[in-house]
Amino acid sequence: METLKYTSTRNHSISVSSVEAIIKGLAEDGGLYVPSCFPPPYALEEIKDLDYKELAVKIIHRFFSDFEQDEICSFVNKAYDGKFHSTEIAPLVKKGEVHFLELFHGPTLAFKDMALTFLPYLLKGALDKNNLYKEVVILTATSGDTGKAALEGFKNIDGIQIIVFYPTLGVSEIQKKQMMTQKGHNVHVIGILGNFDDAQNALKEIFNHGEFNRHIEANGYTLSSANSINIGRLIPQIVYYFYAYFQLVKNKEILMGEPINIAVPTGNFGNILAAYYGMKLGLPIHQFICASNENKVLADFFSSGIYDCRRDLKPTISPSMDILISSNLERFLYDLSDENSTFINETMKRLKTEGFYSIPEYMKEKLTLFYGGSADEEKIYTAIKKVHEQWNYVMDPHTAVAYSVYEDYVHQTKDNTKSIIVSTASPFKFTKSVCSALHMDVDDKNDFQLIGEFADKMGIPIPLPVKDIHQQENLHNTVCNKEEIQSIIENILKV
Ligand SMILES: *Cc1c(COP(=O)(O)O)cnc(C)c1O
Repeated sequence: METLKYTSTRNHSISVSSVEAIIKGLAEDGGLYVPSCFPPPYALEEIKDLDYKELAVKIIHRFFSDFEQDEICSFVNKAYDGKFHSTEIAPLVKKGEVHFLELFHGPTLAFKDMALTFLPYLLKGALDKNNLYKEVVILTATSGDTGKAALEGFKNIDGIQIIVFYPTLGVSEIQKKQMMTQKGHNVHVIGILGNFDDAQNALKEIFNHGEFNRHIEANGYTLSSANSINIGRLIPQIVYYFYAYFQLVKNKEILMGEPINIAVPTGNFGNILAAYYGMKLGLPIHQFICASNENKVLADFFSSGIYDCRRDLKPTISPSMDILISSNLERFLYDLSDENSTFINETMKRLKTEGFYSIPEYMKEKLTLFYGGSADEEKIYTAIKKVHEQWNYVMDPHTAVAYSVYEDYVHQTKDNTKSIIVSTASPFKFTKSVCSALHMDVDDKNDFQLIGEFADKMGIPIPLPVKDIHQQENLHNTVCNKEEIQSIIENILKV
């Protein structure tokens, strides 16, 4: 079987193996790696009875065919055995007419675990096939959840160093504490004075800084990424969409082949892009509901065809979505433009220099598959309260964004297609916001103090990952300006 190659969204003549795409993370021209040719759709009947892990092997192996099926199988087993607090891994919970796809039962209580428990094994496997490098250095910018999930996934893996950069003012108290207390001989956590976009842009520049990369490589290191710009992060996220679909069929909610809607709380456009890739692989989807918080660049894009980040980033109670530059939209545009890498190259340059771009009419017509909407802070609080009152079910603020936009969509369109709300984090990560939405007394209390009260109110046990977190010692206290990132990396690596 011929192996699947990867090309860059900005240069069609690039062709690399999946091993190289996984190790490199970002293409040298600044573009994102995408499959040179998309695998054909599945016959749904043939894969409908697979359990989560079997489905994962089936889907992931198709994209990373440089690996033997047995290898992928062993990575999948290591990634999903015992690490998740739910035997189903990604349970689908029905409340009223909607289905919450709970992706937060992993070791760090957010959906990033779905791929970041797997990526370290894949990357390690890729390195074993490619003995060019002594050590890989994972650079990761985080809006809150990726950082911790990547640290947990990569800790103590030989041959890999991981450096996480988080915006000091852009993450919740619990998210920050989770990162600052991280143990492991190869982990480094740095606060950046700025927001997520600052951190992500600074890292992208480092990835594309030829001289710096040569300097690093001369010392036996190579840089890689654990953000969803890495294709190794994105592909495992396709799995749970198929899994959820087959659950709906098994529960007789839909007939096989019947299209569904999927509402996703969106930041970097990674999670929803995985659903879109799922559709390209045969998943019947009627409408993608792309939900933003007040930083609604994407909602505006889907209604106008203009992507405009000439605005200030607003910190919100859904910090993991506080993003103006959604990196993975580039992969979607590549698809939308019929793989026109010249167009992507020009468009991304334009975004960088002018802060906005618009897409041509023929592409706009294809946007109708996506409904973009947004929820401000008030709507988030209201949604959490309402869902709790109706069903005694508590959403975290990110999930609440998706729920609120889903409600707006249904209200506007009267579309009654069966819908999945993608539930991306545990409410235990954002207790202060959640408790105030539920009108509990939160005055003078911090997130940590409210963990116990919240658990009591709900009558559920505190999830282990946050149980005694406030008592743990901070191991990482470095904070820097974005201009200092390069020298920080040099210091850590002693190069
Ligand atoms: C990362 C994250 C998101 C946004 O996902 P993208 O793939 O960046 O669009 C939404 N909710 C939570 C809780 C997250 O951690």
